[in-house]
Amino acid sequence: MVHDIIIVGGGVSGTALLYTLSKYTDTGSIGLIEKYHDIGLVNSASTMNSQTLHFGDIETNYTVEKARKVKRSADMVMRYLEAEKEKNCADNTFIKVSKMVLAVGKKQADILRERYSVFGELFPKLRMIGREEIGRLEPAIINGRDPDQELLALVTEDGYTVDFGMLSHSFVKNAKKSKRDISIYLSTKVLKIEKISRGFRIITNRGEFEALSVVVSAGSHSLKIAKSLGYGKNLSILSMAGSFYTGPKVLNGKVYTMQVEKLPFAAIHGDPEVHDRNITRFGPTAKPIFFLERYKYSSFFDYWKTFGLGLKPVRSILKISSDKVIFRYLLKNVVYDFPFIGKRSFLKEIRKIVPEVKLREITFARKIGGTRPQIINNTTRKLEMGEAKITGERIIFNITPSPGASTCLGNAYEDTIKLMDFLDNKFSFNREQFEHDLVNLPDENLPREPVRKKIRVVERK
Ligand SMILES: Cc1cc2nc3c(=O)[nH]c(=O)nc-3n(C[C@H](O)[C@H](O)[C@H](O)COP(=O)(O)OP(=O)(O)OC[C@H]3O[C@@H](n4cnc5c(N)ncnc54)[C@H](O)[C@@H]3O)c2cc1C
Repeated sequence: MVHDIIIVGGGVSGTALLYTLSKYTDTGSIGLIEKYHDIGLVNSASTMNSQTLHFGDIETNYTVEKARKVKRSADMVMRYLEAEKEKNCADNTFIKVSKMVLAVGKKQADILRERYSVFGELFPKLRMIGREEIGRLEPAIINGRDPDQELLALVTEDGYTVDFGMLSHSFVKNAKKSKRDISIYLSTKVLKIEKISRGFRIITNRGEFEALSVVVSAGSHSLKIAKSLGYGKNLSILSMAGSFYTGPKVLNGKVYTMQVEKLPFAAIHGDPEVHDRNITRFGPTAKPIFFLERYKYSSFFDYWKTFGLGLKPVRSILKISSDKVIFRYLLKNVVYDFPFIGKRSFLKEIRKIVPEVKLREITFARKIGGTRPQIINNTTRKLEMGEAKITGERIIFNITPSPGASTCLGNAYEDTIKLMDFLDNKFSFNREQFEHDLVNLPDENLPREPVRKKIRVVERK
């Protein structure tokens, strides 16, 4: 099979690109290869992630530059979701709830107040609220709490809880409607990619494919494939599994805690489950594991191949974990997954949000939570924040820790521009239409009040 473009990976990143290419370009033929029997089953599945559309407003570890970038991409997903909902009001890909970041105690409150003076401008719908309003919106935060404890929160009504697995299916459904030449190969595992004179040969368990250009959006497996082609040699992966605890309905919306600045993970939060508001999920934890894919023990050897067996990655790990803050954080998080003691330690974190929650009310959520491929840069010996993109000759590799689901369309936009260039502009990208549909906010979404200065489809199964 020969295609102009082949996408490896049918998660939310790969399918967002399939949608963008089919709806906004005139690309001749596009193939998407996915190793499982269906799309969206790995990190994009609703059971595997925190289901949050991250904009950067309540993520206190983001810089303003990072927040601006994430917001542009999250706005695209928001506009896509809202447009789909308008076409079909029974669509249950997402729910909309309030969303806040909660500061507990004077130190956190001071940091949040200062943050608001900068972030309030970028997010005009974000409001700073005190104890009374926090109590009105989320009574469980106040009940049983020391009345002298200072509380402050930044809140917005625009909290999106998204089933990114369903979103992946929606992208594929709409890509098929475009009537372009699309082939989706399910249960097809890429074993090797080879460079050939006219592009790439992709060897799978179900035969060989050829493409002029390739995008690998296979989560942490992307780095393994990149390394086999000589790219990303200075990178390793720290695979950070995230687990959750569930409890009864105690919160109306999303409540995030404040994150430590140098940590590249979203802070622990509590929020209603996307398909059952009577369940509150608390988490995620962050525990290093030696697998590329969670619950997939056969990915152990692939993990080490990707990590690299030389001294450089070991030195990086030693340097990263010699930071007291990171070391303590990792140790604490490993304990959260232990039987008996884990639940008791994590309860302390949950009680920072809901003080009266009881031990018997919370349960460790088995087989819930995927793993985030955090990038270790072996040149700087630092953990990198967010997603990584390696651009090679006519090939792109996307490695997507959080908030990779929120940035799927922004990522697809960038990849589409590069792909048109890779294919010598034989095809064109209708950027204006993409931006009209998904970037420019319609008037009703603009702030009403003045901005607060301060503040074809072949399917094989
Ligand atoms: C605990 C946790 C919480 C998170 N919370 C959030 C959140 O709230 N908001 C957010 O935006 N992001 C969140 N994320 C991150 C988000 O889930 C991921 O960034 C996103 O799902 C990545 O999508 P993807 O398509 O790149 O990868 P995946 O969904 O993992 O898809 C990759 C696909 O590639 C396929 N594949 C792999 N290897 C091969 C091969 N050799 N051949 C063929 N196919 C292959 C896989 O089967 C898979 O279907 C969270 C992640 C975790 C683990």
